[in-house]
Amino acid sequence: METSRRVRRNWPIRTEEQAPETVNLGQQDLRAYYEALSRALGPMHWWPAKTPFEVIVGAILTQSTAWANVERAIANLRSAALLTPSAMWAVPTSRLAALVRPSGYFRQKAKKLKAFLQFLHGEYRGSLKRMFQTPTEELRVKLLDVHGIGPETADSILLYAGNHPVFVVDSYTHRIFGRHAITSGKPNYEAVRTLVETAFPRDPRVFNEFHALIVNTGKNWCSKGEPRCEGCPLSHLLPANSPFLRPAVAPATALETELTP
Ligand code: SF4
Repeated sequence: METSRRVRRNWPIRTEEQAPETVNLGQQDLRAYYEALSRALGPMHWWPAKTPFEVIVGAILTQSTAWANVERAIANLRSAALLTPSAMWAVPTSRLAALVRPSGYFRQKAKKLKAFLQFLHGEYRGSLKRMFQTPTEELRVKLLDVHGIGPETADSILLYAGNHPVFVVDSYTHRIFGRHAITSGKPNYEAVRTLVETAFPRDPRVFNEFHALIVNTGKNWCSKGEPRCEGCPLSHLLPANSPFLRPAVAPATALETELTP
């Protein structure tokens, strides 16, 4: 697929009162993003965890905090030998809260971990294997019903711990897709998830890799403030009228060269 062409779309006009997020891009074009990132950066080998349960714990602890803080909390849990569902289920919530303190909002996060474990024990007799044998959509609905589990956490659990074919949408996805006019309007998790999931074969390896590539791009180039488009693997895919494109410097004419001291 040709990916070096400039994408010609009109930059959406944003109003103060943003409309719900809409999708402006064809599925074929979205694959160009995957290919450009994969060529430049992949493979990513995500998620950074040793076991499916550790993925679940990380997915809950990473809410509203940097990953470095989650790592410290997980190190505490590992030292206390609590990184199994049965061990964590047996420990008092107050002790759990003290151990996950580095991840911030530690009392709420301890309650969220316990809520997940209660669900796991109540529905699946404590077995992650049994839980992940549930059909994807059915399990997704059940996870979303657990206290403290929203769409991004549920999809991280499904994809990275259970190898289910879902795409995880995060703030980097919204930012990059918005800046490239792939979407416009107020971020809408389900609209973006559907866009990506229907653009690719339903293969967890593809969704895993694409999400990891987007996170890497967001961290290294597409920051919340001024994006660093020069050198970004997606710069050639910016729309022709994007405000992030720097005007090309015209080569000096022969006369200008002659007059230059
Ligand atoms: S840094 Fe620029 S080129 Fe890269 S993803 Fe962000 S807006 Fe696009």
